[in-house]
Amino acid sequence: MERQGAAGGGPAPGALARAWDALVATARRTVADGLVVGTSGNVSVRVGDTVLVTPSGVAYDGLGPADAVGVDLDGRRLFGELTPTSELPMHLEIYRATTAGAVVHTHAVHATAVSTLVPELPPVHYMTSALGGPVRVAPYALYGTDELAAHMLRALRDRTACLLRNHGTVAYGDTLTQAYDRTAQLEWMCRLWLTAVSVPGRTPTLLTPDQLDEVTEKLKGYGQRK
Ligand code: 13P
Ligand code: ZN
Repeated sequence: MERQGAAGGGPAPGALARAWDALVATARRTVADGLVVGTSGNVSVRVGDTVLVTPSGVAYDGLGPADAVGVDLDGRRLFGELTPTSELPMHLEIYRATTAGAVVHTHAVHATAVSTLVPELPPVHYMTSALGGPVRVAPYALYGTDELAAHMLRALRDRTACLLRNHGTVAYGDTLTQAYDRTAQLEWMCRLWLTAVSVPGRTPTLLTPDQLDEVTEKLKGYGQRK
């Protein structure tokens, strides 16, 4: 796998192997945590100008170091024997348009249910702001197409996650952990909204744009400050 040594201006030795291990661990976690079933969904991580992606239709359990698949930002195969994920157009659109270091796509059940009901996830919780604002639903298009990737990119404007109508979630981040956490938060927030709207005769309260802006500011100081 490690064909692009530091001498060639590519990733440092070992960086691709470590990134592949982390990618496989993240992909396995999407299954373990119930965000996908079987070989649904896909994960990618960027190392310099190389994008490592999960292979199409291969169970994550069986993936080892020899199965790494790397492409460039135009989708040209750099190494690997297995066919890259069919959603390569979505992953590459994100890397070309943003500073993303990792992308996670799932078919999480509550998120996918929400994608069939509304054009945007109503802001029922302040964590809406952690994803850049109310999460949009990209219009439906056939999986694996450039059309779907274009819809997704529009839905992601000023956001780090979106829903794909009748399909699932897409989230990106600086790291695999961040992209995964955003996916999990999105699925949780969709479950929350579905739970609240399911109460007969009641309508959930929503946060206002001002309230969301206030959260955005406060989140800049969230967690452990060095
Ligand atoms: P791949 O197995 O090709 O990654 O496809 C799974 C998927 O979720 C397609 O949308
Ligand atoms: Zn999918």
